[in-house]
Amino acid sequence: MSEFSYSVQLAQKLIRCPSVTPEEAGTLDLLENELKQIGFICTRLLFGEGKERVDNLYAEFGKGPSHFAFAGHVDVVPVGRLADWRFSPFQAEIKDEILYGRGSADMKSGIAAFISAIRQWQQSTNSKTKISLIITGDEEAEAINGTSKIVEWMRNNSIYPDMCVVAEPTSQNEIGDNIRNGRRGSLSGHLIVTGIQGHVAYPHLAQNPTSALMQMLSIVSSTELDEGNSHFGPSTAEVTGLSTSTNVTNVIPATASAMFNIRFNTEHSKEALQKRLSEHFRQIANEYKVQFEINWKSNAAPFVTEAGQLTELLSESIKSQTGRIPELSTIGGTSDARFITQLCPVAEFGLVGKTMHQIDENVSINDIDILTNIYKDLLHRFDKKNDY
Ligand SMILES: [Zn+2]
Repeated sequence: MSEFSYSVQLAQKLIRCPSVTPEEAGTLDLLENELKQIGFICTRLLFGEGKERVDNLYAEFGKGPSHFAFAGHVDVVPVGRLADWRFSPFQAEIKDEILYGRGSADMKSGIAAFISAIRQWQQSTNSKTKISLIITGDEEAEAINGTSKIVEWMRNNSIYPDMCVVAEPTSQNEIGDNIRNGRRGSLSGHLIVTGIQGHVAYPHLAQNPTSALMQMLSIVSSTELDEGNSHFGPSTAEVTGLSTSTNVTNVIPATASAMFNIRFNTEHSKEALQKRLSEHFRQIANEYKVQFEINWKSNAAPFVTEAGQLTELLSESIKSQTGRIPELSTIGGTSDARFITQLCPVAEFGLVGKTMHQIDENVSINDIDILTNIYKDLLHRFDKKNDY
């Protein structure tokens, strides 16, 4: 018998599957097996073709009509430089009450915690609540054949939970200090400006595209695109790459290009942003007599879940188990909650995420047990609200 709780042991088993995105590496079989033992009906959902193919799992227990969902991803980011790890990334070693391994924080322990919470809840209730689990193997990479397609499948099958918690590691310093109730959107641009190549000593015979490019980028490198709103800080934009067609000191280049990324709040749609920036680029291109081309890519729209039943229940559960009153925030990168928002109110809450994606990623095993208790308490509160 291991001295560790079911949650911690399940987290260890998951970490031992090297599911670097988009590989599921046995994680879904493992979960399916655990879930079938506690009465879940499991549906594997394979989306995409060939190399892009991704395995996902939808699991359901109970009849409802009230319906609570948990969501999570089993894929992890690559380990990076293996030699830098003090603990082997897929061994799930525990030292001084800390569990080490890739995915320990982001977010295999979160999945283990909600499954363990459901097991304990089942044993202590006659509730009719339906529980569904949305588990994907494609969150860390392109997120094309993961939650977005599961959500589409759920809509086609008229499966609409009342609310959903995503077990991302949202806590900042201590478990329970932070709930994520929204995320910014992301828009990337690749801008290519074409002038006329020439000798640097004879600039009147050339048209330098870099001068125009620098002017064009002023809007993405120094302007706050808005003042923020009650849920979000101002949208931010950063230049992420610059290059020219020559890279020598005696030739005015023919082309100069830049890449940038904008993290935008609910004050904008990606269409409106694209229009605004394209107009700015066009104006400067005319002024400098150069040509330009812009390619856009956006894989995330911003979303926000207004404070309400879900955030209240979650906050009460967190307070009852930790004494902390969580802050609602919308900081951080994109997450799968942006897709689930099409089904029902969604919030993200989980372990301390300080070490996610880092070397020697880790979480406190005590926190895993606390998180399990929070999720269990949340299910009971949800039942109470629904009179079970
Ligand atoms: Zn994650």
